[in-house]
Parts: sequence; C-alpha cells; structure tokens
Amino acid sequence: MLRTIDLRGQHLSTVQLRQVVPRADIDVDRALESVRPILEDIRVRGVQAVKEITARLDGVELDSIRVPHERCTEALQALDPQVRAALEESIARARKVHADQRRTDVTTNVVPGGTVTEKWMPVGRVGLYVPGGLAVYPSSVVMNVVPAQTAGVGSIAVTSPPQKAFGGLPHPTILAACALLDVDEVYAVGGAQAIAMFAYGTAENEPVDLVTGPGNIYVTAAKRQLRGLVGIDSEAGPTEIAILADDTADPVHVAADLISQAEHDPLAASVLVTSSDKLAAAVDAELRVQIEATKHIERIGTALAGEQSGVVLVDDIEQGLQVVDAYAAEHLEIQTADSPGVAARVRNAGCIFVGAWSPVSLGDYCAGSNHVLPTGGCARHSSGLSVQSFLRGVHIVEYDRDALQEVAGHVQALANAEDLPAHGAAVRLRFEEPRPGQR
Ligand code: NAD
Repeated sequence: MLRTIDLRGQHLSTVQLRQVVPRADIDVDRALESVRPILEDIRVRGVQAVKEITARLDGVELDSIRVPHERCTEALQALDPQVRAALEESIARARKVHADQRRTDVTTNVVPGGTVTEKWMPVGRVGLYVPGGLAVYPSSVVMNVVPAQTAGVGSIAVTSPPQKAFGGLPHPTILAACALLDVDEVYAVGGAQAIAMFAYGTAENEPVDLVTGPGNIYVTAAKRQLRGLVGIDSEAGPTEIAILADDTADPVHVAADLISQAEHDPLAASVLVTSSDKLAAAVDAELRVQIEATKHIERIGTALAGEQSGVVLVDDIEQGLQVVDAYAAEHLEIQTADSPGVAARVRNAGCIFVGAWSPVSLGDYCAGSNHVLPTGGCARHSSGLSVQSFLRGVHIVEYDRDALQEVAGHVQALANAEDLPAHGAAVRLRFEEPRPGQR
C-alpha cells in the first residue's frame, strides 16, 4: 500500500536524508501564479472582487461577506448536543493548556538605575482562517481563537469558506463554535481571497495585523505573498504524520493513525519509520483492511499512494531518530518500547505524541494542545500556534543619569567604530556644559 524506502545499512548525511524521506513536492510558488491576480484584484477593487472570486471558486453569490451574528447563535441552538459537549470539552482543555503558556513581563536591572523590561503585548487585531474545502474544521476555530483570546487580542475576526449546501454560509458547526467562543465577527470567505481581504481590508471589513490558521496551498501561497503587510503564523499546509515505531507497536493502531491523517487531503502525508520488517508487513496488511471501511476512501487512497507517503526501513531507533529529525513532521508519534525516552531525544517535530495512548486524533481535538502546526519541514525552525503567536515582546529601556554616564564611553567607542559620530554625540552632549545661550 505504502511505498518502501530502505535505508538500512546506509549512513546518510542530513542533506541526503532530506532528499530521500518521502515529501510531496508542494509547489507553493506555482500556486502563487494563480493566487497573485486574486490578491491584486482584491487590493484594487476590494469587496466587489472578493464577491466575484467567491462566485467563481466557491460557486456562491454573496450579498455581504459578513455573517450576521444571529446565524451563529441559531447554529449553536441547533447544534447536536453531543457535538456541543465535545466542543466545550475541547475549549476547556485548550484554555487550560494555553493559560499556562502566557509569558510574564520581565524586568532586568542591568546596572543600578538602568533597567530593561520585556513587556508582552497582544497584537491589536487578528484574522483567523478556518479551512472548509474538503473537510470543515470547527476544531480549528477552537485552536485559533483560544490562544488569541488567552493572549488578550482585543479584536478577533474569523473567516471560513462559504458552503453552497448551507446557503452560502460557512458550515453550521463552524458558526456554532464561533458562538460558543463569543466571536461575533465572522466572514464567509475562503482561500487566498480570505487572506487578501484580511490583509488589505475592504469596504466591508477592517484590515488585520496578523493572519493565522491552516489552509490549502492557495491559502499558504497568499500568506507567503502578503507576509510583511500582515504578520502570519508558520505555514500550516497539507497535514503530515510520521510514526517512529518498533516491533512493540500495535499494527492496528499504527495503520489507523496513518489513515486518520490521510483523511484530510489527497496531498496529506503518512510516513512510518520502523526498524521492524514484521511491523511494516503487518501495518501494510492492516491498512488494506481498514481503508475498505473508511468513508473517504478515494482521498485516503490517493494520499497513501502519493510520493509524500511511505514506509522508511531503518537499522534501529538511532537511525530512526535521524530520519524523523530530517523529516521534521508536523505530527510525530513515538510507539516504541521506551516511548518517553525516545521522544525526549527528538529535535524536530511540530507536536510529539508519546506512546500507544496518545494518537494524533486526540491532539486534533481534545488533548488541550494546539493542532495548527508547521508542515513541510517548517518544524525545524517554527512552532505551532500558541499564545506566543499573538504576542509581541517589546523592550522598554529606562536608564537614569548616572547609569547612562557610566556607559557613555562605551557607546561613544562603538559609535566611532561604526563611523556614526552623531550616535556618540547624542550621549556625550547630555554631559557637556551647555554652549553659551544653548539652554
Ligand atoms: P481551505 O479552506 O484551505 O481551502 C478552500 C478554498 O480554496 C475555497 O474556498 C476556494 O476558494 C479555494 N480554492 C479552491 N480551488 C482553488 C483554485 N484552483 N485556485 C484558487 N483557490 C482555490 O480547505 P481545504 O482545501 O480543505 O484545505 C484545508 C487544508 O488544511 C488541508 O490540506 C488540511 O490538511 C490542512 N490542515 C492543516 C492543519 C495544520 O495545522 N497544518 C490543520 C487543519 C487542516
């Protein structure tokens, strides 16, 4: 079912490992070719362009891009009680975890009379993208909104693609999740057009300072292109799961977890890294059985058969760790004899799921962790969405006369070394006798 990459007996450098691990060649730059005209059209023509592009791409004629508040409260009233209870639990756990992430301001007494304070300030206004193409993600409302609210962001707008089946509104569970979280600024716009609408602002919406949230390649391309005009979180594109397992892992669990992430998108990646031939064969057999019983069989089949998915055979857990570090998966499960010990040695992953009872699906919904995570190897340098994503650390510098005088000579020396004498003068002048008539 999955292609096999046999690395046993090979000693590969990081560069070579990055070349051989399965990863889709997701060409965001090519998507940019179709996304650029969308962005430019919205920059120039504003909301009229948003509506026309939405009609073309989503097949929905929007009178207004904004969802009336009553639609969210109605959706919450009509929500299945079991789904409501699950969303409430998901929100409660996410709030508990994210509340503990809030950094406190720190003041450092550098010298007597000289302090630097790092003050964490929330971004003023954010636009949160909730995907809604192939699947709808009320869980992504929770994962975006909870950290933004915990950070203290004052103005929060959510957008999600309009659904033809629901009269051009986002999916009702998304609207209900917004109501549960007390978000009342909601838009029915998806794709690159949503990111442009947030970045530029239109006659029907104010621009935002930061856009976050996962999405498909067009959403990712738009975020990459508009970065700078707005802040963005890390690139959270088609989902990935890597599982590092030995022969103590249960093939039924491993196969189920590989399938669960393939369900997101035909471009999703499912990768098993194992030192066990026996496990690889058992997982392959199990995949064939389980896939027959899944609903989204076509999407899953395409994802598992794609070049981005596969089984990587390694000599041992040591080599397995090198492979998963080179891959830097969005989600990494460790299912080995000593899962906590192995997990502690992982350097690159968006989120690590330790042991047999911590599947990625738990993290998707109800672990309390955030599910908006870096994909495409970005976990090597970026984090998933968190309270920190919505804060800026501002340094506040406060020195008194003596503290400045004490260091004035060093400032002067460095200013001279950089041939910026006015910098030195700005300090020196403060301690010189005023020229006659100067003060
Ligand atoms: P989406 O909301 O990202 O995209 C749907 C929008 O794409 C539509 O509204 C449409 O306007 C636009 N679009 C469709 N075809 C287009 C085209 N040819 N040109 C320009 N725009 C076009 O929903 P999706 O497509 O289901 O993708 C969601 C993605 O988010 C999946 O890949 C999923 O794996 C990923 N995801 C990632 C995370 C994460 O944390 N990394 C979490 C959840 C979901």
